[in-house]
Amino acid sequence: MKKIALEFINLIENSGYKAYIVGGFVRDFLMKKESYDIDITTNATPKEIQKIFSSVTVKRPINDEDNYGSVRVVYKNIIFEVTTFRKELEYLDNRHPSRIFYVDDLETDLKRRDFTINAICMDKNSNIIDPLQGKLDIQNKIIRTIAPSEASFKDDALRILRAIRFMVTLNFKFHPDVIIAIKKTKQYLKNISYERKKIELDKIFASPYAKRGIEIIKELELEEALDLKNLDRIQDYTDLIGIWAMINSDSYRFTRHEKELIKKVNIVYEMDNLDPKVLYKYGLYVNILAGINKGINKKRIIKAYSNLPIKSKNDIKVTAKEICLLLNKQPSYFLQDIYRQLEDLILTGKLENENDILLTYIQKNFKEIYI
Ligand code: ATP
Ligand code: MG
Repeated sequence: MKKIALEFINLIENSGYKAYIVGGFVRDFLMKKESYDIDITTNATPKEIQKIFSSVTVKRPINDEDNYGSVRVVYKNIIFEVTTFRKELEYLDNRHPSRIFYVDDLETDLKRRDFTINAICMDKNSNIIDPLQGKLDIQNKIIRTIAPSEASFKDDALRILRAIRFMVTLNFKFHPDVIIAIKKTKQYLKNISYERKKIELDKIFASPYAKRGIEIIKELELEEALDLKNLDRIQDYTDLIGIWAMINSDSYRFTRHEKELIKKVNIVYEMDNLDPKVLYKYGLYVNILAGINKGINKKRIIKAYSNLPIKSKNDIKVTAKEICLLLNKQPSYFLQDIYRQLEDLILTGKLENENDILLTYIQKNFKEIYI
C-alpha cells in the first residue's frame, strides 16, 4: 500500500507539484497499523489533480461543502483523498470556515489541521516531515490540538468527537488542555449536523473500545449536547446496532433496515426473550441484542434458539399440497390460518413436528371448519 501511495505522489510531483501523504495513513504507519484510505496534501488544485489522473483512474470531486477543494481518486484500487494546501479564515457556526485560501506551503496547511498526530507527512522518498512534533505525541500517546484547544474546538466542534474517537481507538490520553477545552466548548456540538456526528460516533461504537468511548462521553458529560440518552441502558458493547438500539434516539438517521432492527430490539427488550415464540418471531440476532443488554448470557440465548422445534414456516413438516389434498380444497387464505396455528402449537410443545402427527391433527381439527 505504501508503495502505491509513493507511486501516486510521484505522479503528482512529476507534473511539477508538491505532494505528501498526510493524516491517518502516516499516523498509522508510524504506529505499525493498517490504514485504508490515504490522504494526500498537495499544492495542485483539484482541477490540476483531475487532469493528472484523467486517463488512469476514477475520480470524483467531492461536492459536499465540507470537502471543498478535495478530490477523491481511485488509483490501483486504493482511495486517495487529495486536498489542496489551504488556510482557513474565521469559522462560522462552529464548523465551517468563512473562507478558504489555497496556499503554496505545506507548513501553513499543516497548522490548520486538528491534532499533532494527524499533521505528520511523508514525502515521495519516504522521509517523514513533522514540524509540529506529532511523532513525539504518538510516542507519548497524547492527543494534542494544533491550535489552542478551546479555539480549535470552537472553530470546529466536530473535533471534540474526533478527539474522543482517536483517544479510544488508539488508546491515547488527552493533553490536559483538551479536557478543559471540551468542558468549555461542548455546547457547540449542538451546531454540528447529526449526520457528521454519527460518522464519528459509529467509529467509536464499532471499535473494540466502544465501552471506553461511552464512558468518556459520560465522564465529559456530553450526553445532552449530543442528544445521547439512555447510555446507562447499554450493557453490551460488541454490536453497533445493539448500542444504537439501547440509545434509541430520534435525532440520528438510520437506514430503513437499521431502523427496523432498532425497533424490534426495543420490542423484544420488553418481552421474555427466551420464550420460544419470541425467539421464533424476531430471530436470533434481535434476541441476542435485546438479551445481552438485559444481562442474559449470549450462549443461553443461542441454545434456546437452537432448541426451537422450527425456525421458520418452511420447517413445518407438512406441505400446502398435502393439506389441500387432505381437506380436498384449492389453496387459499385458509392455509395461512392453519400454518399459523401449527406454528403456535409446535413452538409451545403441544404438537410434535412430524408429518403423520400433523396430518392427523389437521384431519381432526380442520376438516369440519374448512368445508
Ligand atoms: P482515519 O484513519 O479515520 O482516516 P484521519 O486522521 O485520516 O483518520 P480523515 O477524516 O481522513 O482522518 O482526515 C484526514 C486529515 O484531515 C486528518 O488527519 C487531519 O489532518 C485533517 N482533518 C480531518 N478533519 C479535520 C477537522 N475537522 N479539523 C481539522 N483537520 C481535520
Ligand atoms: Mg484518513
